[in-house]
Amino acid sequence: MDLTDTPEEQEFRARLREWLAIVLPTLPPKPSPDDWPGRRAHDLGWQRMLYDAGYAGLHWPADAGGRGATPTQHLIFLEETERAGAPYVGAGFVGLLHAGPTIAAEGTAGQRARWLPPILRGEEVWCQGFSEPDAGSDLAALRTRARRDGDDYVVNGSKIWTSHAEVADWCELLVRTDPAATKHRGITWLALPMDTPGVTVRPLRTLAGSAEFAEVFLDEVRVPVANRVGDENDGWRVTMVTLAFERGTAFVGEVVACRRVLGELAREARRTGRWDDPVLRRRLGRLNAEFRALWRLTQWNVSEAQASGRVPGVGGSVFKLRYSHARQELYDAAADVLGDAALDLDRPWVLDRLSSLSYTIAAGTSQIQHNIVAERILGLPKGR
Ligand SMILES: Cc1cc2nc3c(=O)[nH]c(=O)nc-3n(C[C@H](O)[C@H](O)[C@H](O)COP(=O)(O)OP(=O)(O)OC[C@H]3O[C@@H](n4cnc5c(N)ncnc54)[C@H](O)[C@@H]3O)c2cc1C
Repeated sequence: MDLTDTPEEQEFRARLREWLAIVLPTLPPKPSPDDWPGRRAHDLGWQRMLYDAGYAGLHWPADAGGRGATPTQHLIFLEETERAGAPYVGAGFVGLLHAGPTIAAEGTAGQRARWLPPILRGEEVWCQGFSEPDAGSDLAALRTRARRDGDDYVVNGSKIWTSHAEVADWCELLVRTDPAATKHRGITWLALPMDTPGVTVRPLRTLAGSAEFAEVFLDEVRVPVANRVGDENDGWRVTMVTLAFERGTAFVGEVVACRRVLGELAREARRTGRWDDPVLRRRLGRLNAEFRALWRLTQWNVSEAQASGRVPGVGGSVFKLRYSHARQELYDAAADVLGDAALDLDRPWVLDRLSSLSYTIAAGTSQIQHNIVAERILGLPKGR
């Protein structure tokens, strides 16, 4: 793979850089982490600016309203926005990075027309209602039930760890539609409007102090059958598409951010004299090599997803596994650089360190990724 910019890519990069230099100074300041309505407005406002400038959904296929850009252009976009300090996708994470791509790949023409443009225009926020109290790693054990009643499904049950639920308009919701079927076969993927009567959201506070996610309770909630993506009882297959996007491509932008933080750490270590410690220098050097390798893996994943008909392969599990551990190691190294100040929650990187702990759990734990790599990539026998 030739990784140097072609003349077209150089031009794309230069135009984007120029645009960022003009618009970023006009952005309102970032709201405080606990101001969820403010964060929603801020993140959607940025998405709208991207849309108006023609940069929304670069990585989405053109027939889903995206730009159909090349994988390299997509990665250039991530590099340049990060370099310029542009806002991260934030509240748009689920919609832009895995619900939208799932609908683009699996939805009907009507569903694509209804749900995709508002995501790209920064008008609607999605959340993910997959996990339940006893159905996380063993997701197919989910018990939230949906019974058919005329043109609606009537849903009862509860979800947990639903990120952004408080400010979401829509939820990609997994329900059990056939309790008699084997557990992977009786599941259906629905789009639930979060303002439907019977939906109750109860925020949960994380270790890092923010109410990032919530419990969602569903009591006789009516969801139109028309909101079903894929066939009834075929939701496990659709779910695999969602998880492939979530693990394979959703975190790629964050790798660029980690590379920036690593540079900041090296500068801070030089400033404070910590750089004289050869153990710390080796640690930062090893992380530098790790994030470079992850960036190459990212390029490969994104190219492969685009080349092989829109959906990333199980290789995303390798990326997710390595990335989530590297992120934790990065912020552990930050604590080493900070010394005693690593206990001060107001210092940069300290809250990031706390939230990095969740990365080996969210989107499927490391143990589950190991299982996938062993069974589905290496072809090793199942443990049971
Ligand atoms: C920050 C964050 C945000 C999240 N956001 C969302 C969201 O928006 N929507 C959503 O639906 N979910 C979300 N989740 C939930 C996440 O997907 C689950 O926490 C995850 O799948 C693990 O499930 P669990 O918590 O039930 O743990 P469990 O499944 O109970 O696992 C407990 C431990 O047992 C291990 N284990 C379980 N089964 C096996 C096995 N077969 N082999 C080896 N080890 C095993 C696990 O790896 C883990 O270490 C989020 C989680 C976090 C931390």
